[in-house]
Amino acid sequence: MRTVYVNGDYLPEDQATVSIFDRGFLMADGVYEVTSVLGGKLIDFAGHSRRLTRSLNELDMASPVEMDELLEIHRQLVARNEIDEGLVYLQVTRGAPGDRDFVFPDPETTPSTIVLFTQAKPGLAGDVAAKKGIKVISIEDIRWGRRDIKTVQLLYPSMGKMMAKKAGADDAWLVEDGFVTEGTSNNAYIVKGGKIITRALSSDILHGITRAAVLRFAKEAQMEVEERSFTIDEAKTADEAFVTSASSFVMPVVEIDGVTLGSGKGGPLALRLREIYLDESRKMAE
Ligand code: PMP
Repeated sequence: MRTVYVNGDYLPEDQATVSIFDRGFLMADGVYEVTSVLGGKLIDFAGHSRRLTRSLNELDMASPVEMDELLEIHRQLVARNEIDEGLVYLQVTRGAPGDRDFVFPDPETTPSTIVLFTQAKPGLAGDVAAKKGIKVISIEDIRWGRRDIKTVQLLYPSMGKMMAKKAGADDAWLVEDGFVTEGTSNNAYIVKGGKIITRALSSDILHGITRAAVLRFAKEAQMEVEERSFTIDEAKTADEAFVTSASSFVMPVVEIDGVTLGSGKGGPLALRLREIYLDESRKMAE
């Protein structure tokens, strides 16, 4: 049985509880992070903790722990659960005021709730799935306007994955005014004439931690990067496409709305970037 962390305690998962009045449960008033683990070490913890701080600040939510303490909790969970490859999920909510009320509770009397747990994913960094790539469908992006905040409000992304599954695909790309914003749980890219194209950062998309690292590594490897919006039609004529996220790293996209890209297998540039990302990230893991 897993050991999880809840509000200061390490507990067996079946003994960890959160109040029914928790605002995460009642109002999706919470933020989260997912940090991957490779070789028992955390990938880009610094990036994830920085984004957590930003999400909390944007929502005027108190941080329940200091960031160095957070690193220690992550490490403890990885060690106690003997995670070699997998991820650590973290969630902070605005706590449980003991009633339901739209007005934010006073943080002095209602502390934030913090929960962390691990998920073992043996073979996470293996390249079998990456070589095959994933198929995506496009759906309308009807999410709220602050997608740069990593909130637990994941109903529409979840519905998007179900629409994809029903259509025989693996995931969905979200489209607004004809332009791709991002994937349901990842950032979206196309490759044209050797150039990597991805939407620029704004409140339209989550500022992916993997995105930042991948773009940095791409530039270091002399690859050309263009941060601009692209339409779903342009994507269908691209040489390659891929997505990035903490749990999928760099994952090639081989089909969009039934249109096959390139050879129909993971594209060479995406696969090379995946290799570079995994190598470099492992070196810096902590
Ligand atoms: N966009 C969305 C909507 C996401 O949910 C995620 C992953 N949580 C990402 C992008 C990728 O972010 P990261 O690389 O930090 O995992």
